[in-house]
Amino acid sequence: MRRAVFLDRDGVLIRNVHYGCDPDAIQLLSGVPQGLRLLREQGYLLIVVTNQSGVARGYFTEGQLEAMHMRLGEMLMDVGAAIDGFYYCPHHPGGVVPAYTVICDCRKPRPGMILRACADFGIEVASSWLIGDILDDVEAGNRAGCRSILLDVGSESAPESPERMPEYVATDFLDAVHHLLTQHQGSERVRKLGGEEVRKRRGTDPGSLPRPIASWPSAARREGVRRRG
Ligand SMILES: [Mg+2]
Ligand SMILES: [Zn+2]
Repeated sequence: MRRAVFLDRDGVLIRNVHYGCDPDAIQLLSGVPQGLRLLREQGYLLIVVTNQSGVARGYFTEGQLEAMHMRLGEMLMDVGAAIDGFYYCPHHPGGVVPAYTVICDCRKPRPGMILRACADFGIEVASSWLIGDILDDVEAGNRAGCRSILLDVGSESAPESPERMPEYVATDFLDAVHHLLTQHQGSERVRKLGGEEVRKRRGTDPGSLPRPIASWPSAARREGVRRRG
């Protein structure tokens, strides 16, 4: 079985443009080529999973979206960070294009795209990760059964339910990758040890504990803003 990192597209790999689909406007976010190379070196498949309701809303077609993904794939391949698969959800129940105006199983926070990729590539979901910038991404990853990291872009408040709780809140893409790889090395070590010792070491490893909600960065920052205001 292989392992993968599932990557949200907008706000994680590339600058978020409101319903943007122009290949010439793609801007990779800082640290992304380097971070993706590090993940590839450790044997992770790189799979993009992205909600693109602009198709259902009539802003662009699937053909235009695929052309954009082809360009993004070329840009990343050129820097040694090739993407193994692009999965997108073109649907939205409030769309205007009838074929896409449906309730589907692929729009995050539903886990459909991740589960489909796991079946297509033979991916072991429990050894895989999701990196997203909103809690709908995190929930999709958690519901699929992988471990999840939220990039803290300051837009999300603390999760209201356990299934929306990320394992780690990262300051930027490279911070997310470093957390993932640290955990990866930890689990490789654990695999080489035996039962009782594994449990002992796991129990004392502070890196394996999720960050408590009280230290939720965005919420803390907003509190600060309110107090100052
Ligand atoms: Mg996003
Ligand atoms: Zn869908």
